[in-house]
Amino acid sequence: MTPGEKLAALNALLKRCKKAPFYREKLPERELRSLSELKQIPLTTKEQLRRCSPYDLVCVPRKELYQYHESFGTTGTPVSTWLTKEDFKFNARHINTGGINFSKEDVVLVRFPYAISTIAHYVHRAAQLKGACVIPASSRSTVSPFTRIIHLMQKLEVTILACLPLQALLLAETAELLGFNPAKDFPNLRAIFTAGEPLTDGKRKLLESIWKVQIINNYGMTETGSQINDCEFCRPHPDENSFIYEILKEDLQTDAEPGETGYLVVTTLNKEATPLIRYLTGDRAKLIHEECPCGKEKVIEIRGRMQNTIKVGRRVLDQWDLDDLVSLLPYRRFWIAGPGTRGVKFVIEKENCSGTLSAHFIRKLEQLHEVPLEVEIVPKGTLLDRSKLLSVGRIGKPRYIYTAAEMQQKTYLKAEETKFL
Ligand SMILES: [Zn+2]
Repeated sequence: MTPGEKLAALNALLKRCKKAPFYREKLPERELRSLSELKQIPLTTKEQLRRCSPYDLVCVPRKELYQYHESFGTTGTPVSTWLTKEDFKFNARHINTGGINFSKEDVVLVRFPYAISTIAHYVHRAAQLKGACVIPASSRSTVSPFTRIIHLMQKLEVTILACLPLQALLLAETAELLGFNPAKDFPNLRAIFTAGEPLTDGKRKLLESIWKVQIINNYGMTETGSQINDCEFCRPHPDENSFIYEILKEDLQTDAEPGETGYLVVTTLNKEATPLIRYLTGDRAKLIHEECPCGKEKVIEIRGRMQNTIKVGRRVLDQWDLDDLVSLLPYRRFWIAGPGTRGVKFVIEKENCSGTLSAHFIRKLEQLHEVPLEVEIVPKGTLLDRSKLLSVGRIGKPRYIYTAAEMQQKTYLKAEETKFL
Protein backbone atom coordinates (compact mmCIF):
# COMPACT_ATOMS: atom_id res chain seq x y z
CA MET A 1 0.00 0.00 0.00
CA THR A 2 1.45 3.41 -0.96
CA PRO A 3 1.35 6.29 1.57
CA GLY A 4 -1.33 7.92 -0.63
CA GLU A 5 -3.51 4.80 -0.54
CA LYS A 6 -3.02 4.53 3.21
CA LEU A 7 -4.05 8.17 3.71
CA ALA A 8 -7.18 7.54 1.63
CA ALA A 9 -7.98 4.43 3.72
CA LEU A 10 -7.44 6.42 6.91
CA ASN A 11 -9.74 9.25 5.79
CA ALA A 12 -12.39 6.70 4.80
CA LEU A 13 -12.06 5.20 8.31
CA LEU A 14 -12.45 8.64 9.97
CA LYS A 15 -15.56 9.26 7.89
CA ARG A 16 -17.07 5.92 8.99
CA CYS A 17 -16.14 6.55 12.62
CA LYS A 18 -18.13 9.79 12.74
CA LYS A 19 -21.26 7.63 12.73
CA ALA A 20 -20.38 6.44 16.26
CA PRO A 21 -21.33 8.71 19.21
CA PHE A 22 -17.96 7.97 20.83
CA TYR A 23 -15.95 9.48 17.95
CA ARG A 24 -18.27 12.30 16.88
CA GLU A 25 -16.61 14.98 19.00
CA LYS A 26 -13.08 13.57 18.92
CA LEU A 27 -12.38 13.68 15.20
CA PRO A 28 -11.38 16.67 13.04
CA GLU A 29 -14.00 18.22 10.74
CA ARG A 30 -11.83 18.07 7.64
CA GLU A 31 -9.91 15.21 6.05
CA LEU A 32 -6.30 14.58 7.11
CA ARG A 33 -3.78 15.98 4.61
CA SER A 34 -0.95 13.67 5.67
CA LEU A 35 -0.50 10.47 7.66
CA SER A 36 1.43 12.41 10.30
CA GLU A 37 -1.72 14.41 11.13
CA LEU A 38 -3.13 11.22 12.67
CA LYS A 39 -1.05 12.08 15.74
CA GLN A 40 -3.26 15.13 16.38
CA ILE A 41 -6.17 12.82 17.22
CA PRO A 42 -6.18 11.85 20.93
CA LEU A 43 -5.46 8.26 21.98
CA THR A 44 -8.37 5.89 22.64
CA THR A 45 -8.10 4.05 25.96
CA LYS A 46 -9.69 0.86 27.25
CA GLU A 47 -11.37 2.87 30.00
CA GLN A 48 -13.10 5.00 27.34
CA LEU A 49 -14.25 1.86 25.52
CA ARG A 50 -15.64 0.51 28.77
CA ARG A 51 -17.69 3.66 29.23
CA CYS A 52 -19.06 3.64 25.69
CA SER A 53 -19.96 -0.09 25.65
CA PRO A 54 -22.08 -1.68 24.39
CA TYR A 55 -23.33 0.58 21.57
CA ASP A 56 -21.59 3.97 21.40
CA LEU A 57 -18.67 2.70 19.33
CA VAL A 58 -20.85 1.04 16.68
CA CYS A 59 -20.45 2.64 13.23
CA VAL A 60 -22.89 0.53 11.20
CA PRO A 61 -26.70 0.09 11.35
CA ARG A 62 -27.61 -2.55 13.97
CA LYS A 63 -29.07 -4.86 11.31
CA GLU A 64 -25.53 -5.28 9.93
CA LEU A 65 -24.16 -6.64 13.22
CA TYR A 66 -23.14 -10.28 12.86
CA GLN A 67 -21.40 -11.34 16.09
CA TYR A 68 -20.77 -9.97 19.59
CA HIS A 69 -17.81 -10.44 21.94
CA GLU A 70 -16.52 -8.92 25.16
CA SER A 71 -13.17 -8.58 26.77
CA PHE A 72 -12.64 -8.27 30.49
CA GLY A 73 -10.22 -6.04 32.32
CA THR A 74 -9.11 -5.97 35.91
CA THR A 75 -12.12 -3.85 36.86
CA GLY A 76 -14.48 -6.56 35.65
CA THR A 77 -16.44 -4.14 33.48
CA PRO A 78 -16.46 -5.60 29.98
CA VAL A 79 -15.57 -3.85 26.73
CA SER A 80 -17.94 -4.62 23.86
CA THR A 81 -16.75 -5.59 20.40
CA TRP A 82 -19.12 -6.04 17.50
CA LEU A 83 -18.36 -7.65 14.16
CA THR A 84 -20.02 -7.34 10.79
CA LYS A 85 -19.95 -10.44 8.59
CA GLU A 86 -17.05 -8.84 6.72
CA ASP A 87 -15.18 -8.20 10.01
CA PHE A 88 -15.54 -11.86 10.92
CA LYS A 89 -14.27 -13.03 7.51
CA PHE A 90 -11.39 -10.54 7.68
CA ASN A 91 -10.10 -12.01 10.94
CA ALA A 92 -10.27 -15.60 9.69
CA ARG A 93 -8.50 -14.67 6.45
CA HIS A 94 -5.96 -12.61 8.40
CA ILE A 95 -4.87 -15.66 10.40
CA ASN A 96 -4.35 -17.43 7.09
CA THR A 97 -1.89 -14.75 5.96
CA GLY A 98 0.51 -16.05 8.64
CA GLY A 99 2.76 -19.10 8.66
CA ILE A 100 0.39 -21.71 10.09
CA ASN A 101 -0.64 -22.88 6.58
CA PHE A 102 -3.73 -24.91 7.45
CA SER A 103 -4.50 -27.54 4.78
CA LYS A 104 -6.89 -30.39 3.99
CA GLU A 105 -4.44 -32.74 5.68
CA ASP A 106 -4.83 -30.97 9.03
CA VAL A 107 -6.84 -31.93 12.08
CA VAL A 108 -6.97 -28.79 14.23
CA LEU A 109 -7.90 -29.04 17.90
CA VAL A 110 -9.10 -25.64 19.13
CA ARG A 111 -8.39 -25.32 22.85
CA PHE A 112 -9.28 -21.61 23.12
CA PRO A 113 -12.49 -20.77 25.00
CA TYR A 114 -15.45 -20.35 22.63
CA ALA A 115 -17.59 -18.45 25.12
CA ILE A 116 -17.61 -14.67 24.59
CA SER A 117 -13.96 -14.39 23.47
CA THR A 118 -13.01 -14.19 19.79
CA ILE A 119 -9.93 -16.18 18.90
CA ALA A 120 -11.48 -19.68 18.97
CA HIS A 121 -14.05 -18.56 16.38
CA TYR A 122 -11.45 -16.96 14.11
CA VAL A 123 -9.08 -19.96 14.16
CA HIS A 124 -12.00 -22.34 13.66
CA ARG A 125 -13.11 -20.47 10.53
CA ALA A 126 -9.54 -19.92 9.27
CA ALA A 127 -8.82 -23.66 9.42
CA GLN A 128 -12.08 -24.57 7.70
CA LEU A 129 -11.50 -22.01 4.93
CA LYS A 130 -8.37 -24.01 4.05
CA GLY A 131 -10.22 -27.33 4.15
CA ALA A 132 -8.89 -28.52 7.52
CA CYS A 133 -11.02 -30.54 9.95
CA VAL A 134 -11.70 -28.77 13.26
CA ILE A 135 -12.22 -30.23 16.74
CA PRO A 136 -13.93 -27.46 18.77
CA ALA A 137 -12.65 -28.68 22.14
CA SER A 138 -12.75 -25.30 23.90
CA SER A 139 -11.23 -24.60 27.31
CA ARG A 140 -12.67 -23.52 30.66
CA SER A 141 -15.27 -26.19 29.98
CA THR A 142 -16.27 -29.03 32.25
CA VAL A 143 -16.73 -31.34 29.25
CA SER A 144 -13.18 -31.01 28.00
CA PRO A 145 -10.79 -31.47 30.94
CA PHE A 146 -7.06 -31.74 30.27
CA THR A 147 -6.98 -35.54 30.20
CA ARG A 148 -9.70 -35.65 27.56
CA ILE A 149 -7.73 -33.25 25.34
CA ILE A 150 -4.68 -35.52 25.53
CA HIS A 151 -6.79 -38.53 24.58
CA LEU A 152 -8.44 -36.61 21.72
CA MET A 153 -5.04 -35.49 20.43
CA GLN A 154 -3.85 -39.10 20.27
CA LYS A 155 -7.05 -40.78 19.12
CA LEU A 156 -7.83 -38.26 16.37
CA GLU A 157 -4.21 -37.82 15.23
CA VAL A 158 -4.34 -34.08 15.76
CA THR A 159 -1.85 -32.18 13.57
CA ILE A 160 -2.29 -28.69 15.04
CA LEU A 161 -3.07 -27.72 18.61
CA ALA A 162 -4.45 -24.17 18.90
CA CYS A 163 -4.27 -22.74 22.43
CA LEU A 164 -2.78 -20.20 24.85
CA PRO A 165 0.96 -20.70 25.44
CA LEU A 166 0.17 -21.58 29.06
CA GLN A 167 -2.30 -24.25 27.91
CA ALA A 168 0.38 -25.86 25.75
CA LEU A 169 2.52 -26.10 28.88
CA LEU A 170 -0.30 -27.48 31.04
CA LEU A 171 -1.22 -30.02 28.37
CA ALA A 172 2.43 -31.16 28.26
CA GLU A 173 2.35 -31.60 32.05
CA THR A 174 -0.90 -33.58 31.75
CA ALA A 175 0.55 -35.80 29.01
CA GLU A 176 3.56 -36.52 31.23
CA LEU A 177 1.33 -37.32 34.21
CA LEU A 178 -0.48 -39.83 31.99
CA GLY A 179 2.85 -41.43 31.07
CA PHE A 180 3.35 -39.88 27.62
CA ASN A 181 6.30 -37.98 26.22
CA PRO A 182 5.01 -34.85 24.43
CA ALA A 183 7.99 -34.92 22.05
CA LYS A 184 7.47 -38.52 20.93
CA ASP A 185 3.94 -39.74 21.60
CA PHE A 186 2.10 -37.27 19.33
CA PRO A 187 3.77 -38.12 16.00
CA ASN A 188 1.07 -36.42 13.91
CA LEU A 189 1.40 -33.06 15.65
CA ARG A 190 3.19 -30.62 13.31
CA ALA A 191 2.63 -27.23 14.97
CA ILE A 192 1.11 -25.40 17.91
CA PHE A 193 -0.83 -22.24 17.05
CA THR A 194 -0.74 -19.88 20.02
CA ALA A 195 -2.55 -16.63 20.78
CA GLY A 196 -4.13 -14.77 23.69
CA GLU A 197 -1.04 -14.20 25.83
CA PRO A 198 2.30 -12.57 24.94
CA LEU A 199 4.60 -15.25 23.56
CA THR A 200 8.07 -14.25 24.74
CA ASP A 201 11.14 -15.71 23.12
CA GLY A 202 11.86 -17.69 26.29
CA LYS A 203 8.37 -19.22 26.34
CA ARG A 204 8.55 -20.06 22.63
CA LYS A 205 11.85 -21.91 23.12
CA LEU A 206 10.48 -23.73 26.16
CA LEU A 207 7.40 -24.96 24.27
CA GLU A 208 9.48 -25.95 21.22
CA SER A 209 11.83 -27.94 23.44
CA ILE A 210 8.97 -29.79 25.14
CA TRP A 211 6.76 -30.55 22.11
CA LYS A 212 9.47 -30.54 19.39
CA VAL A 213 7.17 -28.75 16.92
CA GLN A 214 6.98 -25.22 15.49
CA ILE A 215 5.16 -22.62 17.56
CA ILE A 216 3.29 -20.17 15.31
CA ASN A 217 1.87 -17.21 17.22
CA ASN A 218 -0.88 -14.72 16.49
CA TYR A 219 -1.08 -11.39 18.28
CA GLY A 220 -4.36 -9.60 18.62
CA MET A 221 -7.04 -8.79 21.12
CA THR A 222 -10.81 -8.82 21.28
CA GLU A 223 -11.02 -5.08 20.62
CA THR A 224 -8.82 -5.04 17.50
CA GLY A 225 -9.01 -8.60 16.16
CA SER A 226 -6.03 -10.43 14.67
CA GLN A 227 -3.16 -7.94 14.15
CA ILE A 228 0.23 -9.60 13.83
CA ASN A 229 1.03 -13.11 12.60
CA ASP A 230 4.19 -15.15 12.81
CA CYS A 231 5.43 -16.15 9.36
CA GLU A 232 6.54 -19.72 8.58
CA PHE A 233 9.92 -18.83 10.11
CA CYS A 234 8.21 -17.98 13.43
CA ARG A 235 8.89 -14.22 13.23
CA PRO A 236 6.04 -11.78 14.03
CA HIS A 237 5.56 -9.31 11.17
CA PRO A 238 3.28 -6.24 11.29
CA ASP A 239 0.47 -6.01 8.71
CA GLU A 240 0.79 -2.41 7.59
CA ASN A 241 -1.91 -2.72 4.93
CA SER A 242 -4.60 -3.31 7.55
CA PHE A 243 -3.29 -1.44 10.59
CA ILE A 244 -1.33 1.68 11.48
CA TYR A 245 1.02 0.81 14.33
CA GLU A 246 2.70 3.37 16.56
CA ILE A 247 5.15 2.58 19.33
CA LEU A 248 5.27 5.49 21.77
CA LYS A 249 7.64 6.42 24.54
CA GLU A 250 6.43 6.62 28.13
CA ASP A 251 5.09 10.18 27.58
CA LEU A 252 2.62 8.58 25.11
CA GLN A 253 3.42 11.34 22.59
CA THR A 254 6.88 10.79 21.17
CA ASP A 255 7.66 7.88 18.83
CA ALA A 256 10.06 5.30 20.26
CA GLU A 257 13.23 4.75 18.23
CA PRO A 258 13.46 1.55 16.17
CA GLY A 259 14.68 -1.14 18.55
CA GLU A 260 13.44 0.78 21.61
CA THR A 261 10.65 -0.70 23.72
CA GLY A 262 7.53 1.47 23.96
CA TYR A 263 3.75 1.27 24.15
CA LEU A 264 1.83 -0.14 21.20
CA VAL A 265 -0.93 2.01 19.71
CA VAL A 266 -2.97 0.67 16.80
CA THR A 267 -5.47 2.03 14.28
CA THR A 268 -7.67 -0.53 12.53
CA LEU A 269 -8.04 0.47 8.88
CA ASN A 270 -10.50 -2.27 7.88
CA LYS A 271 -12.73 -2.87 10.87
CA GLU A 272 -16.35 -1.95 10.10
CA ALA A 273 -18.58 -2.38 13.15
CA THR A 274 -16.40 -1.07 15.99
CA PRO A 275 -13.21 0.39 14.47
CA LEU A 276 -10.48 1.84 16.65
CA ILE A 277 -8.42 4.97 16.10
CA ARG A 278 -5.11 5.23 17.96
CA TYR A 279 -6.03 2.54 20.49
CA LEU A 280 -3.60 2.25 23.39
CA THR A 281 -3.38 -1.54 23.50
CA GLY A 282 -1.74 -1.70 26.94
CA ASP A 283 1.10 -3.81 25.58
CA ARG A 284 4.79 -3.04 25.48
CA ALA A 285 6.32 -3.60 22.06
CA LYS A 286 9.52 -3.17 20.10
CA LEU A 287 9.87 -2.62 16.34
CA ILE A 288 12.95 -4.20 14.82
CA HIS A 289 14.20 -3.83 11.25
CA GLU A 290 15.57 -7.19 10.17
CA GLU A 291 15.44 -9.24 7.00
CA CYS A 292 13.46 -12.43 7.42
CA PRO A 293 13.91 -15.38 5.04
CA CYS A 294 10.19 -14.93 4.19
CA GLY A 295 11.03 -11.58 2.55
CA LYS A 296 9.53 -9.25 5.16
CA GLU A 297 11.74 -6.63 6.77
CA LYS A 298 9.99 -5.61 10.01
CA VAL A 299 9.33 -7.54 13.21
CA ILE A 300 7.22 -6.43 16.19
CA GLU A 301 8.06 -8.10 19.49
CA ILE A 302 5.16 -7.97 21.93
CA ARG A 303 6.78 -7.87 25.33
CA GLY A 304 3.88 -8.08 27.81
CA ARG A 305 1.42 -5.76 29.51
CA MET A 306 2.37 -2.21 30.46
CA GLN A 307 1.56 -2.81 34.13
CA ASN A 308 3.40 -6.15 34.19
CA THR A 309 6.87 -4.80 34.80
CA ILE A 310 9.33 -4.73 37.65
CA LYS A 311 11.40 -1.60 38.24
CA VAL A 312 14.86 -2.02 39.69
CA GLY A 313 16.58 1.35 39.99
CA ARG A 314 16.33 2.85 36.52
CA ARG A 315 15.82 -0.50 34.84
CA VAL A 316 12.36 -1.70 33.81
CA LEU A 317 12.05 -5.44 33.34
CA ASP A 318 9.05 -6.72 31.40
CA GLN A 319 7.75 -10.23 30.88
CA TRP A 320 10.09 -10.75 27.93
CA ASP A 321 13.16 -9.78 30.01
CA LEU A 322 12.08 -12.02 32.89
CA ASP A 323 11.41 -14.97 30.60
CA ASP A 324 14.86 -14.40 29.06
CA LEU A 325 16.38 -14.75 32.51
CA VAL A 326 14.36 -17.85 33.35
CA SER A 327 15.29 -19.44 30.02
CA LEU A 328 18.90 -19.67 31.27
CA LEU A 329 17.93 -21.53 34.46
CA PRO A 330 17.65 -25.31 34.84
CA TYR A 331 13.94 -25.01 35.71
CA ARG A 332 11.79 -22.93 33.37
CA ARG A 333 8.19 -24.15 33.40
CA PHE A 334 6.50 -22.46 36.36
CA TRP A 335 7.81 -19.34 37.99
CA ILE A 336 6.71 -16.06 39.44
CA ALA A 337 8.73 -12.89 39.96
CA GLY A 338 8.42 -9.63 41.84
CA PRO A 339 10.48 -6.99 43.60
CA GLY A 340 12.73 -8.60 46.22
CA THR A 341 14.78 -7.08 49.02
CA ARG A 342 17.55 -6.55 46.46
CA GLY A 343 16.54 -6.46 42.78
CA VAL A 344 14.22 -9.09 41.36
CA LYS A 345 13.12 -12.14 43.30
CA PHE A 346 12.20 -15.28 41.39
CA VAL A 347 10.34 -18.19 42.93
CA ILE A 348 10.81 -21.16 40.60
CA GLU A 349 9.36 -24.62 40.77
CA LYS A 350 11.66 -27.62 40.69
CA GLU A 351 11.16 -30.01 37.79
CA ASN A 352 11.96 -33.68 37.31
CA CYS A 353 15.10 -32.91 35.35
CA SER A 354 18.32 -32.51 37.23
CA GLY A 355 20.08 -29.21 37.24
CA THR A 356 22.06 -27.12 39.61
CA LEU A 357 21.90 -23.46 40.38
CA SER A 358 25.15 -22.27 41.88
CA ALA A 359 25.72 -18.86 43.45
CA HIS A 360 28.43 -18.35 40.82
CA PHE A 361 25.87 -18.90 38.04
CA ILE A 362 23.46 -16.40 39.57
CA ARG A 363 26.24 -13.79 39.84
CA LYS A 364 26.98 -14.34 36.14
CA LEU A 365 23.29 -13.81 35.32
CA GLU A 366 23.28 -10.61 37.38
CA GLN A 367 26.22 -9.28 35.42
CA LEU A 368 24.67 -10.26 32.10
CA HIS A 369 21.35 -8.58 32.85
CA GLU A 370 22.69 -5.83 35.10
CA VAL A 371 20.16 -6.51 37.85
CA PRO A 372 20.52 -8.02 41.35
CA LEU A 373 18.72 -11.37 41.61
CA GLU A 374 17.33 -13.59 44.34
CA VAL A 375 16.26 -17.06 43.30
CA GLU A 376 14.22 -19.38 45.51
CA ILE A 377 13.66 -22.90 44.25
CA VAL A 378 10.47 -24.44 45.65
CA PRO A 379 9.35 -28.08 45.50
CA LYS A 380 7.37 -29.29 42.50
CA GLY A 381 3.68 -28.71 43.14
CA THR A 382 4.12 -25.42 45.03
CA LEU A 383 3.01 -23.17 42.18
CA LEU A 384 0.99 -25.72 40.21
CA ASP A 385 -1.10 -28.42 41.85
CA ARG A 386 -0.79 -31.23 39.26
CA SER A 387 -3.70 -33.19 40.73
CA LYS A 388 -6.02 -30.54 39.28
CA LEU A 389 -4.82 -31.35 35.78
CA LEU A 390 -6.24 -34.82 36.19
CA SER A 391 -9.60 -33.57 37.41
CA VAL A 392 -11.76 -30.87 35.91
CA GLY A 393 -9.51 -27.84 35.94
CA ARG A 394 -10.56 -24.23 36.11
CA ILE A 395 -7.88 -22.21 34.39
CA GLY A 396 -7.50 -18.53 35.05
CA LYS A 397 -5.34 -16.05 33.20
CA PRO A 398 -1.65 -16.73 33.73
CA ARG A 399 0.07 -14.45 36.16
CA TYR A 400 3.83 -14.23 36.37
CA ILE A 401 4.63 -10.89 37.93
CA TYR A 402 3.75 -9.79 41.47
CA THR A 403 3.96 -6.60 43.52
CA ALA A 404 6.46 -6.05 46.34
CA ALA A 405 3.73 -6.42 48.99
CA GLU A 406 2.48 -9.68 47.46
CA MET A 407 6.02 -11.05 47.29
CA GLN A 408 6.55 -10.31 50.99
CA GLN A 409 3.22 -11.83 51.98
CA LYS A 410 3.76 -14.83 49.65
CA THR A 411 0.30 -14.28 48.21
CA TYR A 412 1.18 -16.64 45.36
CA LEU A 413 1.13 -19.56 47.81
CA LYS A 414 -2.22 -18.70 49.36
CA ALA A 415 -4.66 -17.14 46.93
CA GLU A 416 -6.26 -19.53 44.47
CA GLU A 417 -6.65 -16.92 41.73
CA THR A 418 -2.95 -16.09 41.74
CA LYS A 419 -1.87 -19.62 40.98
CA PHE A 420 -1.53 -21.08 37.53
CA LEU A 421 -4.62 -23.21 38.07
ZN1 LIG B 1 9.21 -13.82 8.16
